Amino acid sequence: MLRAELDALPITEKEDGREWRSQNEHVAHSCGHDGHMAILLGIAKKLAQTPPACGEIVLLFQPAEETGAGARAVIESEKFDASLHPDIAYALHNQPGRPFGEISIREGSFACASRGMIIKLHGYCSHAAHPEQGLSPVHAMCRLLEALEQLPQSLPTSKDLRLVTAVHAQLGEVTFGTTPGEAIVMVTLRTATDVLMQPLVKAAHDLIERVTQEAGLTYDIEFRDIFAAVINDQQATTDVIHCAQKCGKMLTLLEATNRWSEDFGVYSTVCRCAMFLLGAGETARVLHDSAYDFPDALIEHGVEMFWALLNEQQLFAD
Ligand SMILES: [Zn+2]
Repeated sequence: MLRAELDALPITEKEDGREWRSQNEHVAHSCGHDGHMAILLGIAKKLAQTPPACGEIVLLFQPAEETGAGARAVIESEKFDASLHPDIAYALHNQPGRPFGEISIREGSFACASRGMIIKLHGYCSHAAHPEQGLSPVHAMCRLLEALEQLPQSLPTSKDLRLVTAVHAQLGEVTFGTTPGEAIVMVTLRTATDVLMQPLVKAAHDLIERVTQEAGLTYDIEFRDIFAAVINDQQATTDVIHCAQKCGKMLTLLEATNRWSEDFGVYSTVCRCAMFLLGAGETARVLHDSAYDFPDALIEHGVEMFWALLNEQQLFAD
């Protein structure tokens, strides 16, 4: 199975006169998923001319990667077991900042597991002239913002990445007359593997419990945008390395897990998987930038790699 993503982002694309600028306001392909789709269509075109002699090839155009919901919906769909269930799955992602056309990959943990955590703190309001009559979550909120980011340091040491990033906070209402009764803290938890995520989640829970108890507050917690880590299978990774060498591509074996997340990780739970990066050029704008533009010249590099990977599976007659 070869997988590309369909979705765009809620970003207003920069107005710089390009003809192919998004026609939908505040919707843009700022992650280059349109380029990934074009690559898969390139493979479809080649398969129309040269169909496989045996086996089945699935070209999966998957929606909702950015929210982490798409891959899970695919594997939970009835159609997946009945007609798709692949033996092996490959995906690529373009990567600005890396040499154009370069292939980079690592075996094992390739991209981090992550999840958004929304913590709602509940106290009660009072007149701002009488703060002692209210129960403000302000100090608990400040403590949590600081302590949650420091949480990984309090856990047993690990050579693999664990990271908590505060991304949003909200306190009370925009008014000078009332003390806040409610607060929201949002953080993103990130770990190199799924196994590392659970202790981090538990530590966050324990911390929130302790801080709110001391402050006399109640709380609730919600998780959003849950991504599994992308774990590259040994054989599938070797195939990518072999194909990159066969195609004469510049090849880099990555030392560290990529800190971002990709919902392709979900497929690791059902089949052998490998994801690799396709360098989009050192001067290209970063992903999710409003001025980002997938370089079309990259399409043939992606097609070449995917085609080599299909040939590696011996699906075609000699
Ligand atoms: Zn993306």
